[in-house]
Amino acid sequence: MKTIGLIGGMSWESTQGYYKAINEGIKDKLGGLHSAKIAMVSVDFAEIEHMQHNDDWDGCARALETVAKNVEAAGADCLLICTNTMHKVAPQVEAALTIPLIHIADATGQALLKSSISKVGLLGTAFTMEQDFYKGRLTSKFGLDVITPNAEDRAEVHRIIYEELCTGILREESKSHYLKVIDQLYADGAEAVILGCTEIGLLVQQENTEVQLFDTTAIHASAAVYFSLA
Ligand code: GLU
Repeated sequence: MKTIGLIGGMSWESTQGYYKAINEGIKDKLGGLHSAKIAMVSVDFAEIEHMQHNDDWDGCARALETVAKNVEAAGADCLLICTNTMHKVAPQVEAALTIPLIHIADATGQALLKSSISKVGLLGTAFTMEQDFYKGRLTSKFGLDVITPNAEDRAEVHRIIYEELCTGILREESKSHYLKVIDQLYADGAEAVILGCTEIGLLVQQENTEVQLFDTTAIHASAAVYFSLA
């Protein structure tokens, strides 16, 4: 079994889900008392969030490069950045490593193609929904047509992530809002919706909607398990 490297803490609310899903994946495959070999460094999200919202992406890249090297030095055979948004600096992080980076958008793109989805809705932070590092990768590498909510809904989806989900607050009203936005993406032609923020799965699950959901936390964790046992 190879050791899975994680950069966690963005936010820690979703990193718990990675830890659980990876261990469940290994247990599922190997049974008994088996559990995942994991090397993790968890950051202070307040420092990262401050740089994100001040457009200091060089600062974000430098911070994650340092952490990534520490994870590699701790014995990791691969690295996962446990957030969609911070994949904005994935190229810099990847360049600082000798171990492979398992990119969350690649794992998600592969899962979508496997399910024969060609047009997909994307929910996530404004960075993820509006910039090219994520949507562009899904389009150029996987040929996917990616649609996002309107500006007002994107702002509310973003606000709920930072003000509620990343601080562990799960509100019924916010859940209803997300489900309404998911229905609208479906009405706009999306065959499925990507939960492209690692906290959204804490609020909305598949049993809450008829629309097919692709939860990036579960998909990314499962790609790590596959790598670990390959
Ligand atoms: N975990 C979230 C994501 O998947 C948002 C937090 C962050 O900005 O990293 O994008």
